[in-house]
Amino acid sequence: MRRLGQSAKLADVCYDIRGPVLQEAMRLERAGRRILKLNTGNPAAFGFEAPPEIVRDIQEALASAHGYGDAQGLPAARRAVVQHYETRGVGGLDIEDVYLGNGVSELIQMSMQALLDDGDEVLVPAPDYPLWTASVSLSGGRPVHYRCDEGADWFPDLADIEAKVTDRTKAIVLINPNNPTGAVYDEELLRGIVAVAARHQLVLCADEIYDKILYDGATHVPLASLAPDLLCLTFNGLSKAYRVCGYRAGWMAVSGPKAHAQEYLEGLTILANMRLCPNMPAQHAIATALGGRQSIEDLVLPGGRLLAQRDAAWQALGDIPGVSCVKPKGALYAFPRLDRSVHRIDDDRRFVLDLLRQEQILVVQGTGFNLPTPDHFRLVTLPGAEELTDAVARIGSFLATYRQN
Ligand code: PLP
Repeated sequence: MRRLGQSAKLADVCYDIRGPVLQEAMRLERAGRRILKLNTGNPAAFGFEAPPEIVRDIQEALASAHGYGDAQGLPAARRAVVQHYETRGVGGLDIEDVYLGNGVSELIQMSMQALLDDGDEVLVPAPDYPLWTASVSLSGGRPVHYRCDEGADWFPDLADIEAKVTDRTKAIVLINPNNPTGAVYDEELLRGIVAVAARHQLVLCADEIYDKILYDGATHVPLASLAPDLLCLTFNGLSKAYRVCGYRAGWMAVSGPKAHAQEYLEGLTILANMRLCPNMPAQHAIATALGGRQSIEDLVLPGGRLLAQRDAAWQALGDIPGVSCVKPKGALYAFPRLDRSVHRIDDDRRFVLDLLRQEQILVVQGTGFNLPTPDHFRLVTLPGAEELTDAVARIGSFLATYRQN
């Protein structure tokens, strides 16, 4: 038979969060081992329940949501998204400016497919949530990584961004609150990003899926609220703040001037039409989620489970010699650094594979987030505080075997 290869389009496409190391974890599970999976931000796997009003809306919708709907999504849900952004300082939106999707993931891919010609460049943070880099590559574009500075709370380096703009640069991606670093950007930084985008006429892509998962009084400012004069794509959904990632409900709001972007928007509409419509039942919960009591606050405020877990993970990481971690201000992750003068680690994928085999703990290597150096890993802060403390202590003992004399 003729050998069936992979399409050349996938040559630079990589998504290590579910990569070969996860395959090995699944093999070990099939062999009867219990693996602590700290690799994906899936709250349901750690006993987080869906808000009951969301489940009820979806259940009630099921009987009548079995047909195709509007390709851009249910008008009532899109109206709720428009109203939500109005209260957050993003004006001028119409329901035609909102696209619903099967999670933010689908919309990220659509936004890049519609935007990029071969060789067009997109500025993407390093480290990033790797779907961004992968989607740019899959669309024929070239991801150009800008530096986020660990020494400055992982804030993006504006000078590095500016230096990397070329005449092929079309867009800049900002993930705030950030996955994997947990950084939450202040208004000054956001204004800096907007200024770079304005100088070079770049599309802003704001991935704000963790906008409600904030610790220690951090506040989230929507990027679009500071950029009324730029085309800004804001991505968000129910997966994280509402803990229903399996329902696959996300949205993208296109704000700012659109007269110059009509062809791009028509392209987006073609792609929306091609997928017929997003998953219908989940869309029925969007208005309820955005309009109701925000139950995530019970989890992130003092006394809340997510805050306690973030604290437990961060403290336990700080107890490991040769490990440091910038305290996450938002999202569901910790992204510790391994001091390579203390630990002999040249291949971080090898390190997470060995950790998996020896301790049955699955984390993701830093290079999986397009960080150039093999000296970080990411863990989710979703298990209970005790389990997290214990897991991090085991990671510490395992790391001791890598210690240089
Ligand atoms: N953006 C970021 C930064 C994420 O961390 C994730 C999921 O982990 C997504 C997007 C995808 O979310 P969704 O479940 O809406 O596809």
